[in-house]
Amino acid sequence: MSDNWDTELADTMAEAGRRVGQAMADAIGRMRPAFDALADVANRPEVRAVIERAEKAMQRRPCLCFCSRAHPADHGICEVFDAVITGQYSSDLLGDFDVPLCAPCAAARAARNFTS
Ligand SMILES: [Zn+2]
Ligand SMILES: [Zn+2]
Repeated sequence: MSDNWDTELADTMAEAGRRVGQAMADAIGRMRPAFDALADVANRPEVRAVIERAEKAMQRRPCLCFCSRAHPADHGICEVFDAVITGQYSSDLLGDFDVPLCAPCAAARAARNFTS
């Protein structure tokens, strides 16, 4: 075994490492324009509007009306993600507690209370 073997191996490893490092740098360099493009798109006003609308939709209160029990006749009118007022829900187990209700549900409940 020659004395050079170790240094040759070290050189080979260093070369391989350098190539891998270069390949990584190339890959990152190629991805960067895509990231920049994405950031660009996210900053466009029409895209921002869509994002803001989505964020607002996430903040909306869901209607927690128990439609099938509270107003079975008007099942399906519920605007599930658009609770606008707080109603009362009476439960034998939990007593009265406040629940967010959407407008159609609140109206249907009121109508039902009125007629029953
Ligand atoms: Zn309802
Ligand atoms: Zn509802």
